[in-house]
Order: sequence, then structure tokens, then C-alpha cells
Amino acid sequence: MDDTHAPTAVTERLLATARRVMAPCYAPPAFIPKRGEGALLWDHDDRRYLDFTSGIGVNALGHAHPEVVAAITSQAQRLLHTANILYHEGHIAMCERLVDMSFGHQVFLCNSGTEAMEAAIKAARRYFYIQGDRRAGLVATHGSFHGRSLGALSITGQPTYREGYAPMLPETQLVPFGDVAAMRAAVDRSTAAVVLEPIQGNSGVHVAPLGYLAAVRALCDEVGCLLVFDEIQTGIGRTGRWFGHEHDSVTPDIMTVAKALGGGLPLGAMVATEPVGAALTLGSHGTTFGGNPVACAAGLKTLEIIERDRLLEAADQRGQQLRTEIDALRLTHPTIQEVRGRGLMIGIELACDAKAIRDRCREDGLLVISTKNVIRLLPPLIVSKAQVAEAVEILGRGIGGMA
Ligand SMILES: *Cc1c(COP(=O)(O)O)cnc(C)c1O
Repeated sequence: MDDTHAPTAVTERLLATARRVMAPCYAPPAFIPKRGEGALLWDHDDRRYLDFTSGIGVNALGHAHPEVVAAITSQAQRLLHTANILYHEGHIAMCERLVDMSFGHQVFLCNSGTEAMEAAIKAARRYFYIQGDRRAGLVATHGSFHGRSLGALSITGQPTYREGYAPMLPETQLVPFGDVAAMRAAVDRSTAAVVLEPIQGNSGVHVAPLGYLAAVRALCDEVGCLLVFDEIQTGIGRTGRWFGHEHDSVTPDIMTVAKALGGGLPLGAMVATEPVGAALTLGSHGTTFGGNPVACAAGLKTLEIIERDRLLEAADQRGQQLRTEIDALRLTHPTIQEVRGRGLMIGIELACDAKAIRDRCREDGLLVISTKNVIRLLPPLIVSKAQVAEAVEILGRGIGGMA
């Protein structure tokens, strides 16, 4: 495909306005999607794209799943918003569902991953505070991503995201991911919590080495600090299990979930064991929008469908297909250095920058994410066998063209 697709007048007009009025912190491509269905998106020229980004792992059921749309519509017609001064059924049901499907006993609902991380940091510190223990230290890892608020940023181990925002929270430390000795040297009795992603997503899909999560769990138990797993990207079926840490059979004290949790609407959760959750006593934390009825309805329907349609197994199978087919590409495409990940969270490390390949794939009808020299794939869990094969074909052309 060598035809270049000039944006239409509609797209041009939208882009010109965007450049004028939007804070310039994003650089989206010069196409603007108009509608989506399943793993597919169409732009204003009616060009079709296979969407292997899922809105950064949010759209587990793809775009515009009819049952999720129906759940949203029906909830919106009954009750849009109540705030935290009233309970509503969906909020309670979502907390119960998260407790039933995890190690957790208590849940705090919010609106995003970042807010879930703030809740986790606060719950960890407060858990010790109410025992009269003033430990406040946080240990996280290089290459991590936990969000953009100053709290979450203080444990995000990527300097570019912090530039210009100093000072960070005091008593935070970063150690190399996967390095048990470095973690041992960093944690002590001043540590309130160690924070880890089971698979680092944002920095290029780095899977925790075998035994690492268990070793960190043991270190946390030794010094009496809490272990927090950021499951914002790895959770809700992305890796072929409900939560990424299930692959390692290690349980944290706190887990954060967001992205796919709200079925496309903003919803985050902090899930904690009983003693930790109990530290968030009356009035100690809160949010106006968190646990919004419509977001809960969309999320509950999404969880129901993932279970009913056996999408954890599907994520595992389609993930294996993707891995096998990309591995086969390596024979003819030496640019590919490594393929890694779990389920439908896959990173392809290249010997070159990934941005140009991402752009070629888009021109050819496939949307992927690029991070430095890594192509990241986060297709919806409902992606078909044929769609995976089509995506690999496009990837092959995109990568081949760079040799
Ligand atoms: C996306 C992400 C976040 C931040 O979530 P937002 O909803 O963007 O605030 C935090 N941690 C991880 C692992 C993520 O992937």
C-alpha cells in the first residue's frame, strides 16, 4: 500500500482547531476516528483500521459492544450520578465483584488509574499511621508507570515524565526492576510500601522475572511493609487471567485496577486486604465522581461478558497465536530482537526506533503503540483469529519496510 491518505476537509478542520485550543501535550496522528465496532475503527474518510491499542488497553470488549452500550443506556435513563453522600446499587455490586474475584476484602472506587494509585499510597501510609507507626517510605522501580499526579509521579521511574515538576514526594526510592538484591538494600523499617507492576507496560512490556514477585513479597514481610501491585494495565483479563499477579501466585496487600474496569467509562479501584482497607476510616478519603452509576453498570456488564464468553482463555489463545506468528516473522525480519509479554499484552523489541513502523502500520490499516524501540500490542480480548493473522501480516510489511 503506497497510497498516502490525505486527511479530508473535516479532519483538517478538526486538527486545526485542536492545535489552537488543546494543551499541546499530545501528538496524535493526523486521523480522527469516527466510529468503532469490535476490534475495528473507521475514520472520517471511512478508512478501516484494526485497533490493536484498545484505547491503551481499556476496550477489553472492543468498541461499542452492544450489551455494554445497552447497560450504559439503561443506567443513564435511571440514575446518572449520586456522589459519595449516597450509596447506589452499582457501586456496591462493583465492590462486591472485585472482592469476590480477588484476594481483597475492601474496595475504594475512583475515576482513573492515577486516582487508584493515590488511594493506594494514602491507604498504605494511613495503615501505619493509625497504629502509631510513622513509616512513610515508598519503594518503586525504574521503568515503572503509575500515573501523572505528583504522588503517582513520585513512584514513576521514568525521568521524562517528571521533568519540570520537581520536587517529588520525599521518602521515595527507585530501584532496578527485577533486581532482588537492590530491593533488599532499599526496603527497611521506614518503608510503608513497595509498589510494582507485574508487567511494566508503559516503558515497553517488561515481565517481572520468574520468582521476583515472590522474593519481593518475602522482603516486604520481613520488614513489615505493604506490597502494592499496580494492575491498572495487567488487570481485567489482559494477560489471560483476571489479574497479572495470578501467574506468579503471589498476593499483594493492595492492588490498583482501572483501564478496562469501567468498560470504556472512567472507573478505577483500590482493592485492599481488610486491615489496610479499614485504615481509610470515615472522612479520611473520598471523591465526588468515583463509582459513578453509569461507569459501574458498564464495568459490571464487561466483567459479566468476559466470564460468560470465556475471554480469559481467548486472551491466552490469541496471545499465543500472536507470539507464535510474530516469532515466525523473526526468521525473515532480523530487526525483531525479542517478543515478550503475556496474553494480549505484547511487546516487540526492535533494533530500531518503533515510531516509523507504527506510522507505516497505521497507513496500512493497523493501530499499534510505540515506545522507544518497542511496538506494543494491546488488542481487545474479543479479537478474532483472522484479525490476529491480518495484524501480523501488516506488522511484517511495516517492519520489513524498515530493513
Ligand atoms: C495507565 C496506567 C496508569 C495511569 O492510569 P490513568 O487512568 O491514566 O490515570 C497507572 N499505572 C499503569 C500500570 C497504567 O498502565
